Amino acid sequence: KVSIIVRELTKVYGQQKAVDQISFAVNPGEIVGFLGPNGAGKSTTMKIATGYLLPTSGTVEVAGYDVVAHSREVRKRIGYLPEHNPLYLDLYVKEFLRFIGGLYGLSGQTLSRRVDEVVAQVGLEPEYRKKIGQLSKGYRQRVGLAQALIHDPEVLILDEPTTGLDPNQLVEIRSVIKSIGAQKTVLFSTHIMQEVEAICSRAIILSKGTVVADQSLEDLRSTG
Ligand code: ADP
Ligand code: ADP
Repeated sequence: KVSIIVRELTKVYGQQKAVDQISFAVNPGEIVGFLGPNGAGKSTTMKIATGYLLPTSGTVEVAGYDVVAHSREVRKRIGYLPEHNPLYLDLYVKEFLRFIGGLYGLSGQTLSRRVDEVVAQVGLEPEYRKKIGQLSKGYRQRVGLAQALIHDPEVLILDEPTTGLDPNQLVEIRSVIKSIGAQKTVLFSTHIMQEVEAICSRAIILSKGTVVADQSLEDLRSTG
């Protein structure tokens, strides 16, 4: 089963065509980089794929479910880290993750176990006793990744997860995303080509709302 299928997707905001007839598919286990400059339509496409925004026309399926018709099924199977992820700075890391897990219907021992698992998975152990407000930007982004993973989704959609990080944090978050990608399908957006080279198997390049390239990393390298 294909993880994400986007078919002739279009989104118009007022007069502005943000996404114009784009189509692509992501297979299970792939880490796909969604590459393009600001305003290319990456966030819009991701918000539609996660069910937060309705398409103007076209369809998106996640794990076999149409995102508009079956949004509940889709939310169970997808983890989403928005570009500007609101965090509760006054909560302790575990408190926050328990809260998010609760929103997904987890409770009791299952919730405690999942919180411990995601804390380990994203490398939050050294900082999990702190309040989110006390964490560096890199660790806050790990909290965001843990939050997106709490309900053990099949597909992760990460909107510019490395923007605004310093070089050390960048390297660390890339390696966390790469390790998550060993078990999940990941679509993440960035405007940095080197980032795609570092962690992806494939790049989908968006410009002005259209797909201008969809290539494996090997092909991208050989064509320059
Ligand atoms: P990217 O994520 O690649 O930066 P976006 O999907 O955020 O691109 O934006 C694509 C285009 O749509 C941009 O021109 C942006 O200004 C416009 N846009 C995005 N969101 C809205 C909105 N809510 N209302 C109007 N225009 C929007
Ligand atoms: P997020 O920033 O978490 O992706 P928002 O809904 O706050 O979600 O903003 C979505 C994007 O669309 C932002 O990049 C913002 O700059 C852009 N945007 C929002 N509203 C408008 C608008 N009326 N015109 C142009 N761009 C917009």
